[in-house]
Amino acid sequence: MATQFLDHLEAQLASIEADGLHKRERLITTPQAAHIRIQDERAQGGERGLLNLCANNYLGLADDPEVIAAARAALDEFGFGMASVRFICGAQTLHRQLEERIASWLGKDDAILFAACFDANGGLFEPLLTAEDAIISDALNHASIIDGIRLCKAKRYRFANSDMNELETRLKEANQDGARFKLIATDGVFSMDGYVAKLKEICDLAERYAAMVMVDDCHAHGHLGEGGRGSPALTGAGDRVQIISGTLGKTLGGGMGGFIAGPQPVIDMLRQRARPYLFSNSLAPAVAAGALKAIDIAEAAEDRREHLTALVARFRAGMEAAGFDLLPGETPIVPVMLGDAKLAQEMAAALDRRGIYVAGFFYPVVPKGQARIRTQMSAGLSEADIDMAVQAFADAGRELGVV
Ligand SMILES: *Cc1c(COP(=O)(O)O)cnc(C)c1O
Repeated sequence: MATQFLDHLEAQLASIEADGLHKRERLITTPQAAHIRIQDERAQGGERGLLNLCANNYLGLADDPEVIAAARAALDEFGFGMASVRFICGAQTLHRQLEERIASWLGKDDAILFAACFDANGGLFEPLLTAEDAIISDALNHASIIDGIRLCKAKRYRFANSDMNELETRLKEANQDGARFKLIATDGVFSMDGYVAKLKEICDLAERYAAMVMVDDCHAHGHLGEGGRGSPALTGAGDRVQIISGTLGKTLGGGMGGFIAGPQPVIDMLRQRARPYLFSNSLAPAVAAGALKAIDIAEAAEDRREHLTALVARFRAGMEAAGFDLLPGETPIVPVMLGDAKLAQEMAAALDRRGIYVAGFFYPVVPKGQARIRTQMSAGLSEADIDMAVQAFADAGRELGVV
């Protein structure tokens, strides 16, 4: 039986490999940063350096000395771990401080921490909505929102990415189906394209059809909008978005952890009923303290955000001049479109040989025929880094006949 089962898995893995869909992980030997080193047996000394264009380290805080110092101090003051869920042993003052800081930063009543945003989204819907209710979800929403909605008994409606006509149709359908409460769920920034959700239009429709709005701002918090307050601030939708989820694992230090911020009764109910909160350990104190410091830095980091915006403009201008096809956008996610999956992989390999660390994305992560290299800019990069990256893209592109 076991042998048969393992053979079955081996066969499936072989077919993943044969389809060219096998995911390989490189091993990094340094802190996460703009310049990293990876393990490579063929390189002299077994390691080589790369310029990193594929981290979610948008403000460059993952190796920030102040963030590291805050985490280190918390290790001494609060120890290594909590070894308990919160409803049994309670939280440390630090956890509550972080929740209050997130809430005041985002202008919400309160916030609740999770081990990851995947857990936050996974636990959000089921305690709040029942079979009498409706969730209307953007088709390109993150996997964790999709899974969270699956775990909830509310009726599900889907609209094509940022298609406001379809959203309106779904809202009408939900009304016709007699939905008691309606919640629209969307990513604030769609990570594969770098597009920002049309939050003003979504909030207009929500208000017209008496729906609530939930935004997952993992790819926006810290680096987009005034004070790094994300897509509601960037789009002007502001307080009209009621429920916000986010991660501490990207711009805000890149450690780990997730959160939901929103109205007091929502947060209170999640504390009573959200399963990933109830049945999973508290954040490690060092992680909470590092994130707290990262939020302080991010909120005040107009200089870093301006530098990031300038780098995005410089990269876009250089790449367009070199003849590359980029998706338009206003975020640090700059997708370089290549079309063919094999070409995207060859391009990633050609860039790797030139010292640029990127990842090719292809079906099923993006639609067939829309394979790409998704680059992500970071405030940790310099203008010289950007110029070097553009040069490498141009060289690699010429080698492969892309430009
Ligand atoms: C990264 C991401 C998540 C998951 O966040 P983790 O804290 O790493 O679990 C959820 N939603 C979106 C939109 C993301 O980009």
